[in-house]
Amino acid sequence: MSKMDALRAMREARYAEATERAARAKTTPQTAPRSRPPVAPPEAAAPAPEPAAAPDGRCGHRSMNGRTCTRESGHAAKSHRYS
Ligand SMILES: [Zn+2]
Repeated sequence: MSKMDALRAMREARYAEATERAARAKTTPQTAPRSRPPVAPPEAAAPAPEPAAAPDGRCGHRSMNGRTCTRESGHAAKSHRYS
């Protein structure tokens, strides 16, 4: 009987080791991507255009009544011109 108990204990120990290894193998790929440095999106490297810049070189700033600034893009004047 003691021999059977020893065999069962050995089998159980091997089973526990196998399940532990399987659990470790399952969790390893989940932790691996975290160690990788984050890849910046390609559009983040390009300088962002002025949010109010219009494609025709005008400031393009919108006034409150929906008119567009007619000064050049990035004008030095603090005020916008909607004429
Ligand atoms: Zn303007």
